[in-house]
Amino acid sequence: MNKDGILVINCGSSSLKYSLIDPDNGDVFIEGIAERLTNKSASISINYLDNNWSHSLASPHDHKMAIAALVELLREKKLVKHIVAVGHRVVHGGETYAQPTLITNEVKQTIFALAKIAPLHNPANLIGIEAAEAAFDSLPQVAIFDTAFHQTMPSKAYLYGLPYSLYKKHSIRKYGFHGTSHYFVAKQAALLLDKPFNQCNLISAHLGNGCSVTAVKNGLSVDSSMGFTPLEGVMMGSRSGSIDPGIIFHLIEQLNYTPEQVNHMLNKESGLLGISELSNDCRSLEEAMNIDGNAQAKLALDIFSYQIAKSISSLSASLSELDGIVFTGGIGENSSYVREQITAQLSLLNISLDHQQNKQLRFGRAGNIAQSTSRPCLVIPTNEEWVIAEQTFELLNKD
Ligand code: ADP
Repeated sequence: MNKDGILVINCGSSSLKYSLIDPDNGDVFIEGIAERLTNKSASISINYLDNNWSHSLASPHDHKMAIAALVELLREKKLVKHIVAVGHRVVHGGETYAQPTLITNEVKQTIFALAKIAPLHNPANLIGIEAAEAAFDSLPQVAIFDTAFHQTMPSKAYLYGLPYSLYKKHSIRKYGFHGTSHYFVAKQAALLLDKPFNQCNLISAHLGNGCSVTAVKNGLSVDSSMGFTPLEGVMMGSRSGSIDPGIIFHLIEQLNYTPEQVNHMLNKESGLLGISELSNDCRSLEEAMNIDGNAQAKLALDIFSYQIAKSISSLSASLSELDGIVFTGGIGENSSYVREQITAQLSLLNISLDHQQNKQLRFGRAGNIAQSTSRPCLVIPTNEEWVIAEQTFELLNKD
């Protein structure tokens, strides 16, 4: 490596992913993950060019140790001098942050305050920021927020039909998530469609373990399926997506669930896993359906595909033109079966697939899977790390 790079950090409560990236073209010099950080079997793995390096972390295992192990390798490989900044993925920026932001004490306090509405994510993101500050104290640290791209949604899209005071006093509104991914694939779609980004009208479906659908009008997010939390919207791997809120009262009042049990059930035991009673993993369900004829696995994928098709159709209400739809995320990029099921229910949007192309465009390949007479239907591998590196670099080099 003889170029400058940005160290990108994505810190969860028990894991820390990192990569050293060339902000110009997204080339990855080094990447890895530290997992089970609160557990005795914590481990860290690092891929350095073609070499894999992994080892168990000695006790106590925490995020600081994971970063210390990374720094050790970076020093050994003489890479530290090439890192010009650290870019952090931060899930919730509330209404405060619509742009990449240089991290100061005040910014950290705001991220901490926003933990009130993102208790599962922002505290973990802050741990990553503080561990990186300790390890790289002379480098600028930048926060890139998952919610930022959606801050252009109009109030008719982000307000719920609830008392207005809940929004004014308690910030209860739709925020939308996966913004970095929707932004990246929308920009790539503009290149594939050969249209200026600020004239592109798209609906993008990010289908991974978490799933969300976003409408992009003239390059800006105007509505998205996830809401106040990432639980709203379409059914996901283990999250229910939107349900009748009355079910929650029924569970608590009639079936004696505690609020914690409901929360756990809606986030961890629902979705593909809940319906199939088998797995939250799309690939496993496709295998169970194809090899064992498992009807519940098929039912789970049917409901999943229908909900996504409905979400795409309903988001078309926020657009007056539609240049195409985009699939991304592990399922959107790889499952030709799910793409086929979804698009079969979108004929009113003039979408019909080229089945051969649909089977071929998988495993990192991008392109159009629609017939030439159809509205474009694009498969685009997401790359949130590259966006974080690029936006961090751009912020630091602004005049
Ligand atoms: P995360 O949201 O955790 O980043 P990913 O974007 O990696 O998750 O997506 C994970 C999902 O992608 C899983 O449901 C997995 O089964 C699915 N997936 C990955 N590869 C394939 C494949 N070849 N066929 C079908 N589904 C796949």
